Amino acid sequence: MPVETCPIRRNETQPGGLARYGQLVGGEIVTGERDMEVLSPATEAAFAIVPDATRGELARAIAAAGAAFPAWRARSFDERRACLLDFAAAILRDRDRIAEALTREQGKPLSRALSEIGNAVRAIEDICTIDMKPQLLRDTPAEKIELVYRPLGVVAGITAWNVPVILAAQKIAQALYTGNTMVLKPSPYTPVATLLLGEASLGILPPGVLNIVSGGNELGAWLTSDPAIAKISFTGSGPTGRRVLEASASNFARVTLELGGNDAAIVLPDVDLDKVVPALFAAAFNNAGQICMAIKRLYVHADIHDEVVRRFARLADEIRLGDGMLPDSEMGPVQNRAQYEKLLALLADTRAIPDAHIVAGGVAPEGAGYFIRPTVVTGLVEGCRLVDEEPFGPILPILRFDDADDAVERANASPFGLSGSVWSADTARAAALARRLEVGTAWVNRHGGADGGIPLGGAKASGIGREHGLLGLRNYMEPQIVSVPQVAVAPC
Ligand code: NAD
Repeated sequence: MPVETCPIRRNETQPGGLARYGQLVGGEIVTGERDMEVLSPATEAAFAIVPDATRGELARAIAAAGAAFPAWRARSFDERRACLLDFAAAILRDRDRIAEALTREQGKPLSRALSEIGNAVRAIEDICTIDMKPQLLRDTPAEKIELVYRPLGVVAGITAWNVPVILAAQKIAQALYTGNTMVLKPSPYTPVATLLLGEASLGILPPGVLNIVSGGNELGAWLTSDPAIAKISFTGSGPTGRRVLEASASNFARVTLELGGNDAAIVLPDVDLDKVVPALFAAAFNNAGQICMAIKRLYVHADIHDEVVRRFARLADEIRLGDGMLPDSEMGPVQNRAQYEKLLALLADTRAIPDAHIVAGGVAPEGAGYFIRPTVVTGLVEGCRLVDEEPFGPILPILRFDDADDAVERANASPFGLSGSVWSADTARAAALARRLEVGTAWVNRHGGADGGIPLGGAKASGIGREHGLLGLRNYMEPQIVSVPQVAVAPC
């Protein structure tokens, strides 16, 4: 059955009060053959209907991206930058509508949703200012050799549910600025704000350059195994990343994997606790801990351990947990039931450890919604699930150490290597320790925050390749050596 191509009216309200959103295919917002509901994690009730794309609908999106590629790649970087900056301005124009959808589907407070959109716009602007000149490798009287970078073709973008707008914006900007076209698939838990980015692009990006399809996990599997896909940019969990890598092997698609982390922060005893504790707390509990680069293991020197724990417990107890649509809420729910149940199981496992002390939180309030109070746990060492696994939620273990070298060793004893940080008044000493962390990004006296101009990615099981910055953009292109003789020579 052909896909209905008649554009649907924006934000059309369906019987039952659910708003309906369409997919972006070939420059039009279209409905699909099948629907799926999107739930609010704060109420557990459906609030929106989006397409559950069929294989045929996906094929149409991939074909539209393929057809748009030759003309888009022929444009200059300046022309593509101009389009993307207009797209960024359109996102800003629509920010209130996108933020409301983001809060409803993801759970974060509305103020946080607005900041995510602001950061997404900034990321597009930053990515588009990166200079992609060819690199002159040799220039002698005999020959000139240049390293140039060519667009790859149709890029598949796949995103996670924790910060869906920023992940989508970053992938769109990188793929399109470098001359590729794209088919983007958001998480089935949080498709709405991403579909609204598609609406914002109407009339700005040429038809087919960007396509956004919504659906379940099988849609991701179809997309990544399609022979027309030249590159996959994936953000999500390690087990899915492995499947994506396997799928890419069928046609040697280029792959960037941005996967999970279990970030350690190491706090030396000379820090100013008044400044450092609030910063550490935010880096652990922002977005209810659902950030790939959140602090997930906090190593604190024995001299200040008890005081840091006391201050963390107070900050955690003060947090106003609630529906992100209510103005007073400082922290929203966990995004989905599977994640909520995983976190409750981690809590139960932790409670069964005799030395574990839950000094704050540990409570899932009664009633609708996947709410868990910010939880701080002490008394643990490595070898238990809460320390060894990525919780990806508002539960933080604080671990005591006596010797900084030992703390670095413990931080590195993890299969993950996304990022990490060292905190000290002595920045030179902290930098020396930070360099020893086996991670993609090592910070001193800060933790977290992505910047479109600075490469980002994971070591070890936290990923393959880099996004952002010149290094990231080159991951969206094929390097090509162009060698030209400077003197007339007979062709061989
Ligand atoms: P997930 O792996 O379950 O899903 C991610 C995406 O993959 C979703 O869009 C999903 O529909 C899709 N998918 C599922 N099966 C697929 C398949 N077989 N082929 C292709 N796509 C498929 O991850 P999640 O639960 O949405 O996200 C949480 C994880 O993401 C955490 O581990 C977190 O640390 C990680 N994450 C990493 C970064 C980073 O930049 N490194 C950023 C955000 C989140």
